[in-house]
Amino acid sequence: MKAPSPVGQRCVNHPERESSARCLSCGRFYCRECVTEHDGRIICAACLAKAGEGGGDRRRGLHALGTPAALIAALVLAYAAFYTAGRALIALPSAFHEGAAAASDTSTYGMHEDTPRP
Ligand SMILES: [Zn+2]
Ligand SMILES: [Zn+2]
Repeated sequence: MKAPSPVGQRCVNHPERESSARCLSCGRFYCRECVTEHDGRIICAACLAKAGEGGGDRRRGLHALGTPAALIAALVLAYAAFYTAGRALIALPSAFHEGAAAASDTSTYGMHEDTPRP
């Protein structure tokens, strides 16, 4: 069974061959050898190289996205720990102030363990 070539186009790289696929990225026609499937789309080798670069950027973007998420999770955990420690110190406002200053110097965990007193 012959695959009907879209508009009787020829492969950009092989003028003697009829195109059997069209690059969905640049819209040019190519023979079966010159195209490849990428993310379920038929694209040419040139666009695949570009997509490869773009994919790298996208992967970096996803990696960058993961960092703020982890940061937010850490902040939420730190806030929860600080809030728990803060509730213990809320009866002593001046001590809470000193505790907050110390917390920035040492760790919240250490402050919670030592339970600093005025
Ligand atoms: Zn292309
Ligand atoms: Zn070709």
